Amino acid sequence: MNEIRIIPIGSGSTGNCFYIEIGGYRFLIDMGIGYKKVRDALGLHGRSLEEVDAIFVTHGHYDHVKAAIPITNHVHCKIYANRSVMYSIRDSKAERVVLNMFEDIGLFPGLTIRMFKVPHDFAYTCGYTFSTSERKIAYVTDCGRMNENILQELAGADVAIIESNHDVEMLKNGPYPKSLQARIRSEAGHLSNDECAETIAFLKEKGTSHFLLAHLSLHNNTPETALETVRQRIADPDVDIYVCPDEGNDLLIY
Ligand SMILES: [Zn+2]
Ligand SMILES: [Zn+2]
Repeated sequence: MNEIRIIPIGSGSTGNCFYIEIGGYRFLIDMGIGYKKVRDALGLHGRSLEEVDAIFVTHGHYDHVKAAIPITNHVHCKIYANRSVMYSIRDSKAERVVLNMFEDIGLFPGLTIRMFKVPHDFAYTCGYTFSTSERKIAYVTDCGRMNENILQELAGADVAIIESNHDVEMLKNGPYPKSLQARIRSEAGHLSNDECAETIAFLKEKGTSHFLLAHLSLHNNTPETALETVRQRIADPDVDIYVCPDEGNDLLIY
């Protein structure tokens, strides 16, 4: 009951979907991975979409909502997101509920959920935290800049899922045109490995000891580069760092 379990089903610009368990509840975050892959990843560990208690969506970019229709054909729960996402998931069958930023959301007894604003080029992109009296998960990807407000929301998490999108040098020397590079580096873009490392250093001081590096770019990053950049900053072997694969079915228990 007190354990946190996470299956990083998909992470990156081709598709994002995380399964989490906290306080006895089962949630999906985002629906950017196809139904069959989600079903199979959950099934491998005796879980199923039919048992998911709620789905939370961060924003309406394709890589986060593209499988909303097939996935919601197989759930018995509601989808929660802010108003700006509703149009992107308008054809999904599940009931859709609008959440407000920066309020404690008491949908499930014993659990506090918070949605907070993240700077990105989709209106009202958000991150989430899920907290019981004893455990806390934080989730933030698609984040152009880390800021004080987000750091305060993330602080005290047991497990933090944080974007580590690109290596700045790889992006500069990579295949993307300058305009796209500028968009990714902008305050409405994505968090670099260095910025992720800085965030992790801050959260480590606040007591977080488990980190998942998420939303890695296929073209401007590698799992090794992301991990190395973070490890250069946080050498402490007691800090556990897992790099989320593009598609995966690992069950992580904390
Ligand atoms: Zn994304
Ligand atoms: Zn996005």
